Parts: sequence; C-alpha cells; structure tokens
Amino acid sequence: MTDLASVDADRIDALVADLVAALGADVVTTDAAALARASIDGSHLSPVITELLPLGQAQIVVTPTSAADIAVAVGAAVRHEVPITPRGKGTGNYGQGIPMAGGLVLDTSRARRVLEVGDDYIEAESGAVMWMLEQTANRAGRQLWMYPSTAQTTVGGFVSGGSGGTGSIANGLLHQGFVTAVEVIRAVPDSEPEWMEGEDAIPYLHAYGTTGILTKVRVATEPLQPWRAFLASFDTFEQVVSLMRPFAALDPTPRLVSGDRARIAGTLPSDLGIPAGRASLRAILDEATIDEATRLVNEAGGRVDDVREGAQHTVKLSMNSYNHPIEWLQKSAPGEYFHLEVLGDALVDDLAGVESVYPDAMLHIEAQRGRPIGMLAARYTSAADVLAGFDRLAALGVQTHNPHQWAVDFEPERAAALAAVTDPQGLLNPGKLGARASEYTGTQM
Ligand SMILES: Cc1cc2nc3c(=O)[nH]c(=O)nc-3n(C[C@H](O)[C@H](O)[C@H](O)COP(=O)(O)OP(=O)(O)OC[C@H]3O[C@@H](n4cnc5c(N)ncnc54)[C@H](O)[C@@H]3O)c2cc1C
Repeated sequence: MTDLASVDADRIDALVADLVAALGADVVTTDAAALARASIDGSHLSPVITELLPLGQAQIVVTPTSAADIAVAVGAAVRHEVPITPRGKGTGNYGQGIPMAGGLVLDTSRARRVLEVGDDYIEAESGAVMWMLEQTANRAGRQLWMYPSTAQTTVGGFVSGGSGGTGSIANGLLHQGFVTAVEVIRAVPDSEPEWMEGEDAIPYLHAYGTTGILTKVRVATEPLQPWRAFLASFDTFEQVVSLMRPFAALDPTPRLVSGDRARIAGTLPSDLGIPAGRASLRAILDEATIDEATRLVNEAGGRVDDVREGAQHTVKLSMNSYNHPIEWLQKSAPGEYFHLEVLGDALVDDLAGVESVYPDAMLHIEAQRGRPIGMLAARYTSAADVLAGFDRLAALGVQTHNPHQWAVDFEPERAAALAAVTDPQGLLNPGKLGARASEYTGTQM
C-alpha cells in the first residue's frame, strides 16, 4: 500500500477537541469506517486512477449542520493548520474529492436548508440536494436552469466539481450564468464568509474548493415547462446520432437528449422500458414538441416506444444520462471498459472514425446546441494506450477531457493565483492545483 500523507496526531487531537467544543461531539468523528467512506469519490470510472488507489485518507470527518457551522469548522482547521477537503455527496469524478494530504474532510451534506426562493433564483446552503432544489423551484412554478445526472448530489459539490447536465442544451455550462452568487470562506485566520455575485463568483466555480469553501449558493431558475419523458428506439445507433442536431433544434429546446448503442442501452435499468437489442434515444421534451419529435423519429426509421408524464419519469432519464450509461456498462463488465468525455462535431459527422480510435469503442452521445458531447467507452488495455488515443481524437477535431487525473482543469492558472491569496498555506483540498497524477505519484501515464 502507498504511504499516505497525514497530519501529526497532536494537531489532529487538538482540532478534534476544538471542533467538539464548538459544534458538539455528534458531528465530529474519527471512526475508521467513516474516515474510509469520506476518502473516496467517483474515481471508479477511471481504471487508471483505480489502480492508484488509495490516494488519501481522512483523519477527521466533521458534518456541520448549517452554513454558519461550516465556517466555524473551516476557521478551526485553519488555526490548527490542518488540510481541509470539502465534500458534498462524494460523487465527483476522478479523485477530485480525495483528501490527498489527510486531515479534515468537511462533509457539507447536512447543511442543506433552502434559504430563499426568489423570482428568478433559488438560494440554499451548500449541502442542499439538487433534486430537492428543483422540486422546491417547481412548487413555485419555476425550474432550475440545470442539474447534473447525479441529481441526488449537493449544490456546493455540483458547482465546485461538476459542469452541466439536464438543461445544458439551452443554458450551457454552470459558469455561464447558472450560478449567480456564492457565499465563500477563505482559509485565512479569522476569515468571515464573503458574498460574491456575478463575475466575482466565477473563480470559485469548478475549482474543487481550492479557492475557498462555499457555504451558500444562489442559482438561476426559469419558468417551469410541461416536460415529457420521450423514449424512442432504432435498429442502429447511426440513426440515433443522425437526430442529435434536429432534436437540439426543437423549439422549445429539449432539456435532455441522450443516445446509446444497443449494447450500452441493454445495461440500463429495465424500468426505462428500452426494447432489447435496440439503439435508444431518450429525451426530456416540452409537450409542444412531441408531435415534431415523433415525426423526426419516424422519418429516421425509428419508433416512439413511450411518452411519459411526471417528474418521476423525467428525472429517471436525467439519472441515466451523461456518465451514467458508461457507468452501467462498466458495472456489467467490471474492469473491462474505461470512460472518456469527448466533444466535437465528429461525434455526429464521423462516428465510425471516433469509435475506431480505441478497441471495442462505443459512444454515448448527448445533444447540445453547439458541438455534441459524448462519453466514449472502450476496452481498457493500459494508461499509455488511453493517452495515445487523445492525439488521434484531436486529429479528428475531438476534444477530450482527461478522466485519469485530478488536477483542476478549468482555468487552472486563475485558480492557482486566487488560491495563493485565499489559501496561502495550501490547506484547501491539497494536491488538486497543478498536480497531474503522473507528477503526483511518479506513475507513468
Ligand atoms: C455516474 C456519474 C455521473 C455524473 N454525471 C454528471 C453530470 O451529468 N454533470 C456533472 O456536472 N457532473 C456529473 N458527475 C460528477 C458529479 O457527480 C457531479 O458534479 C456532482 O454534482 C458532484 O456533487 P457532490 O455533492 O457529489 O460533490 P463532491 O463529489 O462531494 O465534490 C465535488 C468537488 O467539489 C468540492 N466541494 C464539495 N463541496 C464543496 C463546497 N461546499 N465548497 C467548495 N468545494 C466543495 C469537493 O472537494 C470536490 O472537489 C457525475 C459523476 C458520476 C460518477
């Protein structure tokens, strides 16, 4: 087993005593099982990272129950110079939530109050669950601009580690207007939470908590639409792919349009009702577009299998979109497939070329207004083979998001420059700024 970085016992004991005194014994734990649970995230999607695990081990977990108590916990850890790894539901991909320097895992999932439902926004403590925010907004006749396919995750975790999801066809990624304000606490002595709006909030997004810990988040809402879960199937995946652009162009814009080969679709939960052996197109559509969507499916040689009404049906499609189909495929054949996010017109225009880059490659596709997004599953041979494919994909005009490293990959220089001010001792989620897996562990990738 790798030697894991850790903080000396005296400092840990002193921090435990302070946290218990400030927040109570029932929200502080050093129980081994709790520490192990808090030390892993969605890294299982990457066989490269899986081979490197464990990469870190929490020494304390604190679970504050309010935004104010999150700030108290951060203040105590900073005083004792103990690293802090913030955590929502721990589903973030690729090691971003692993406490690589040991220390404190700050589990925010119980600080989850909805604070305000405004005319065009909803504000909550950072541990509030995205699907709960969506339902709260729905009761006020509104809907979130977006939520991830991991709809059960926290708003703080989503805006700190995610990028988009259901709703992104119309509204883009989360830093493009969805997050309108955050309350953030810095890792400096006696820091008080600060309210950051608009552009000022952006450097705190998708930064894995390295630039500050979010205590509250305000996100944009829009008028609630009459959504339907639309399920269609086809003889071939090529027919599905041919509909990505026409579906993205439907007016009103769909909330989600996902497509899979029969091999991947066959691993999805059976209650989706995807006919065996058929390629699948699943969409969340405004009811006004159902007739036009049906016409498009028929014209492409497919058939509409079902149109379902109710949020329980649409969220099921969300929770089987983006990374989930590949995750289901991986579960059906443990250790066989890796997962790679890809972006580019070639996903539609040159599907065969894209899928020829890796052995047994299969694309899961998501419609976008601009370039389509996909998740490529392919047989895992070695880390080196995975990396070699990136150049071949680039030659096809396909952008990749390396899922086998844990460094902040969105404006990393900006994040590092801000963290130098907001976290001068490097206590916030150490190991995530500038450290690629190869540099961090010496592993050749
Ligand atoms: C199968 C699968 C499907 C996924 N689908 C999507 C998708 O559709 N769209 C998408 O964007 N992502 C997706 N993800 C990634 C991830 O699930 C989401 O981004 C999710 O919303 C993260 O929320 P979480 O509560 O689990 O956060 P965590 O995983 O706990 O945290 C994510 C990151 O944010 C940091 N963090 C957590 N809370 C705070 C805070 N309060 N302040 C500062 N930093 C904090 C953590 O340290 C970590 O670096 C998927 C992951 C998997 C495994």
